[in-house]
Amino acid sequence: MQLELFSVGTELLLGEIVDTNAAYLADKLSQLGINCFYKTTVGDNIARLAGALDIALRRADGVLTTGGLGPTQDDITAAAIAQVTELPLEEDPASVEHIRRIALQRQRDRGSAAQSAEASRTAAGERMKGLLKQARLPRGATPIPNPVGTAPGFILRTPYRGGDPKTIISLPGPPGEMKPMFEQTVAPYLAERVAEEGPAVLVSHHLRFADIGESQIETELRDLITTQGNPTIAPLAKPAEVHLRLAARAATREEAERLIAPVEAEIRNRLGAHLYGVDSDTLETVVGRLLRQTGRTLAVAESCTGGLIGHRLTNVPGSSEYLLASLVTYGNRAKQDLLGVTAETLSAHGAVSEETAGAMAEGVRRVCGADLGLSVTGIAGPGGATPEKPVGLTYLGLAHAGGTVVERRRLRGDRSMIKERAAQLALYLLYRHLKGLPGVES
Ligand code: ATP
Ligand code: MG
Repeated sequence: MQLELFSVGTELLLGEIVDTNAAYLADKLSQLGINCFYKTTVGDNIARLAGALDIALRRADGVLTTGGLGPTQDDITAAAIAQVTELPLEEDPASVEHIRRIALQRQRDRGSAAQSAEASRTAAGERMKGLLKQARLPRGATPIPNPVGTAPGFILRTPYRGGDPKTIISLPGPPGEMKPMFEQTVAPYLAERVAEEGPAVLVSHHLRFADIGESQIETELRDLITTQGNPTIAPLAKPAEVHLRLAARAATREEAERLIAPVEAEIRNRLGAHLYGVDSDTLETVVGRLLRQTGRTLAVAESCTGGLIGHRLTNVPGSSEYLLASLVTYGNRAKQDLLGVTAETLSAHGAVSEETAGAMAEGVRRVCGADLGLSVTGIAGPGGATPEKPVGLTYLGLAHAGGTVVERRRLRGDRSMIKERAAQLALYLLYRHLKGLPGVES
């Protein structure tokens, strides 16, 4: 099944609000195994909305709209759908009842003390006229109850232009109304429709990679990506890492997993060291698991990351079992006083150097009595660079019982990006050590 998303509202076109509805619904449709090839944003204009709906209804199995179902003149979605499907708008009695009940309730809540009885009656009458407009649905539509507001949504299934039946689903714009209506009524409806069509489940897994770019992953997996079928393979670039989504469609979850398994195994085979986790794994949860399993403790000395590594490590519940300390030794003085980095090391090589990173890792390991010491020092920019030490130059250190490893990196991006990447690579260095991968093993 293929549905197109429509976001209706001039305020979306003016950039006054961000279209979070489309992002939410696109994710939900994909989880239901429904393809979405187009998303359209249209202003509050009947002719333009009807025109865009016509294009969508000719090429897709249906549309899902949000916005423009309210009581005011500029709420035109139902009218545009009626126009394009050539169906009349008819009052839905249950919706009228619901609207009257809510309107009465609101009137009672507001009270009418400030107005004369006459003025208050006229205003209430006007309001009610607008509200009742929302109960007018295209003929044959099934209303979708709105547990929060007055505007019902609706589901309409109707032959389009003498051809196949199409599905038209309309929901109100406010996310607080749209989401419960989608969850309670639309999602079960669509799940049933998808099930009728055949293979019922879509299973997807995100493989998570560190220290490798999207294009390198694509190069390594070119043959798999170009010949992909079921499962599909899609790279997704995230701020400091890349994900690969494997999605398979099958009659059962087990069968879908069976389709994914060999493809995942082949990818693991090719990119193994970079593939650190799956789905909800993060580097901090994975290193946490490895530290706990091996009964080792960790202490961290951070400079340019300013506590980001400590923050990430302590986001994991139970991290106190293995994390002894994370010191933010930002200035030279702190590096000397708290970690025992010598003045000679700092003056001969500078705070951002292989020697300082190594001394920081060893120092924090010693001072905290940890099994492992992890350190980062770098130039996050925009200032502070020299010809020999450009912005983004970062050293990562790891001290363990068998010795000390230091890695030199040149990171790209603005200040916050460099900090994020430095934290990611430090955790990745720790990960490789804990996994016993080449170059950083004990
Ligand atoms: P109402 O009864 O509130 O008028 P409606 O269905 O007519 O509901 P709109 O008038 O289009 O919806 O939008 C009402 C409000 O809902 C907007 O001002 C905005 O805050 C929010 N909204 C609408 N569309 C979206 C969207 N696509 N993404 C996020 N928020 C939205
Ligand atoms: Mg509105």
